[in-house]
Amino acid sequence: MSTTLFLRNLFLSELNAEDFSLLRGHLAPTELRAGNMLHRCGDRIEDIVFPYSGVAMMTAPLREGSGAGIALIGCEGLAGGFAASASAPATCDCEIVVSGQASRMAAPAFRYALDRSPTLRRWASQFDNALMAQAQQTALCNAAHSVEARISRWLLELQDRSGGERIPLTQGMLARLLGVRRTTVTLIAGHLEAAGAIRCRRGFMQIVDRAVLEASCCECYGHLKSNGTRLVSRRERVVAEPQARALESHG
Ligand SMILES: [Zn+2]
Repeated sequence: MSTTLFLRNLFLSELNAEDFSLLRGHLAPTELRAGNMLHRCGDRIEDIVFPYSGVAMMTAPLREGSGAGIALIGCEGLAGGFAASASAPATCDCEIVVSGQASRMAAPAFRYALDRSPTLRRWASQFDNALMAQAQQTALCNAAHSVEARISRWLLELQDRSGGERIPLTQGMLARLLGVRRTTVTLIAGHLEAAGAIRCRRGFMQIVDRAVLEASCCECYGHLKSNGTRLVSRRERVVAEPQARALESHG
């Protein structure tokens, strides 16, 4: 596999050479297909998946087959690492919502690498923390904000991870992400389309005017982007850290 492919995943691209060498020999290419499950709630995690493109959705399932989205994982991170590093069963389903490419590695090899390197453990913990922040924000968002605001938020989050204005996502998939009826999504997507924010076509949704969509979104999207829990590149951290220190010294 070419090194440039690894650079498309933020978690892998930010590893130091020593940590990357612990993982590289175990990484194998894999396709992510929308609708496929990476794992189900209660499963033992067999593989850790590092997306280069495409998006996975963590969902909390309900007994009658419905559920709701908790967090998204795209090219910034890894799927399955949280449970695998704890040798614990998966606490939710993980389904591919946008097709793409990825690398996968066996969970025992990932655990071995974590045991060998404190810096790798710390980097993985930072991603776990970002994932937990997303889940906490979603819990608040589901309780406090309108379906229109939540749809806007998920579309912005999906675009951040999938790239491009067109998001290959059906209204049915969006309804499952929100834990609402498809007819509700159709109605509200119609409002957003009339406002000029998005365009809905068979099999995809297109963000036409991001500013209009952001205006109809709740504070949750901006909060997650600004509170420092999102995984960012080393270059962005160099810019952010002096600002954080300045804020602390004034606090
Ligand atoms: Zn919200």
